[in-house]
Amino acid sequence: MVIRQVNEKGIDLFFNKINKDGISSGYNLNPDTSFTKSLIRGILVNIERYGYDACPCRLASGKKEEDIDIICPCDYRDIDLNQYGACYCALYVDEEIKSGKKKVLPIPDRRFSKDKEKIDNKNNIGNIDLKYPIWRCKVCGYLCARDNPPAVCPVCKAKKDRFEILLNKLR
Ligand code: SF4
Repeated sequence: MVIRQVNEKGIDLFFNKINKDGISSGYNLNPDTSFTKSLIRGILVNIERYGYDACPCRLASGKKEEDIDIICPCDYRDIDLNQYGACYCALYVDEEIKSGKKKVLPIPDRRFSKDKEKIDNKNNIGNIDLKYPIWRCKVCGYLCARDNPPAVCPVCKAKKDRFEILLNKLR
């Protein structure tokens, strides 16, 4: 598939795809296009190397189940966008950085930090009589109540395997 090839055409196709997905769901790519494309090249290299789009700025293990949290867009994107205005790699940025009002600052990797606990915000809502389990997209926090998670998150476009059960239905 051309979109996954590590060449100019593949990079442009991938860029256009995530740019379009981002626009439709409220995410901005870094306006420095050559920097952004260099990150996309890294993602495409990781797809070729590991078979999945691991974060271009982190060391992947090569095992998808171990790296599921750092498949781009990673589980940490939104919390870093909120706190720093950019994701760890600065592929995604907020409006202020996009418009040049603010610069990207160094962002600590929260993957193995205590902050990770805040992201793994497991169920503590108590007993609720649910007809369907509640699924949560680990990338953007989108919630839905249905038997199975959607194939693709309607907000951030993360795939089904990025969903977790937040609350199980009561049997
Ligand atoms: S969203 Fe996460 S995985 Fe993707 S480039 Fe940014 S930091 Fe890396």
